Amino acid sequence: MNMDWKYERNILFTGLLATCLLGYFLGYTAWFGLAFMVAYAVFQFNRLQQLYRWAQSSSVSDVPFEMGLFGQLAQYFLRAKKQQLTLREVGKAQRERFKSLVSVYPDGVVILSSTNSIQWMNDHAMGLLGLKKSDRGQIIDQLLRHPRLNKVLKLGTESAVVVESPAVDSNWAVEKVEVRSLPYGDDARLLLVRDVTRIERASQVRKDFISNASHELRTPLTVMKGYVEMLLASTEADNQPVSHSLQKVEQQVLKMQTMIEELLQLSKLDEGGVENSKATIKVHDLFEQLEEEFQSVAKNKSQSLNFDLSENVVLTANKNALLTVLRNLIANAIHYTEIEGDIRVSCTLNDEGEVVLTIKDSGRGISARHLARLTERFYRVPENNVMNKGGTGLGLAIVKHELERHEGRLQIKSTVGEGSRFQCILPPSRVARRG
Ligand code: ADP
Repeated sequence: MNMDWKYERNILFTGLLATCLLGYFLGYTAWFGLAFMVAYAVFQFNRLQQLYRWAQSSSVSDVPFEMGLFGQLAQYFLRAKKQQLTLREVGKAQRERFKSLVSVYPDGVVILSSTNSIQWMNDHAMGLLGLKKSDRGQIIDQLLRHPRLNKVLKLGTESAVVVESPAVDSNWAVEKVEVRSLPYGDDARLLLVRDVTRIERASQVRKDFISNASHELRTPLTVMKGYVEMLLASTEADNQPVSHSLQKVEQQVLKMQTMIEELLQLSKLDEGGVENSKATIKVHDLFEQLEEEFQSVAKNKSQSLNFDLSENVVLTANKNALLTVLRNLIANAIHYTEIEGDIRVSCTLNDEGEVVLTIKDSGRGISARHLARLTERFYRVPENNVMNKGGTGLGLAIVKHELERHEGRLQIKSTVGEGSRFQCILPPSRVARRG
């Protein structure tokens, strides 16, 4: 038994003994004993209440008891309180350090609770999103009424979206902001906001330039093509050097025309100016049309071109867009596959109910380091195009754009020397029916 228990026990027994002795001399031993016990219980209850109140308070001074069991309990509480205080101070210091770090961060940072209420934000976030200090604690979706932004906030998607700055009315220097939402802590989110006005303007200037230049070049090229055709027709058959040169010119003019048409198509897709018609299309019909178009091309290279018609899916999509996508991929498969190679085109539904259009070839393949860049504009694999002067490097960029317009994606797998597999994946919402 330690000292504190002995101290309590001594108070109880000495008090009880003294009271009983007094009672004994006065002839009321039992009553005095009982009275002492009641008084003792009240006394201990008061001490307990006093300890409880002090333990509840944040004070680390005025310890109510020094001695006995209550003194020891008070010491335990004091230690716990001091630890809590230290932790709170460390936490506060860390928070302050985080805030001062984030306040010099050049981009906007907003900390959101699980219900999307603003917990904290730096000055840049206020400037870029047109928010005020007094907006802290408010639900951000109700302050920023922007459909795409609200989608990011609702879904908590981590991929960045570029939207018009909600602060555009008050600050014309910021027109476009990129917003990214990241998970933070247990169920909070971190909203990162970046001013992308200059990048977006530069990109728009580039797109406008390409679109305008392509438009301007279209007419002169048509005129040149007409003259070359006319000259070729009027060149004597025995004048080999001249007709050979003219054929070369014609080839180059045709290549430029293809490039201009593809650039104009990309410009249209960039501007979102392409009508997203939602006709129903049978994949079988597409395959039959493409087989007719490409069978003779494949035969010229003694290749086997096979369309698998086992799965017939009816899609809700833009027919011309799907034809463009498949034409590009089949033309590439034929082009980048050697003589007597094998090309297979198929349509399947995967476990998620997505439509998978596959174009598989036994061609030269593409090394892994090029795969991520294949859909960039003008990107061509140098080793696959050493001898080849045709091609523009725009086909796969168009394919990617068209698929994205249908909420789809392009997946590429390839092994050098074995062949490539291009898969166009469309979401289940694009399946009108099967069979
Ligand atoms: P291009 O007009 O050059 O074919 P694309 O954008 O269609 O442009 O393709 C980009 C590049 O990807 C091509 O230059 C080629 O190097 C490579 N490529 C595309 N499809 C295949 C394929 N089936 N096999 C091998 N390489 C391919």
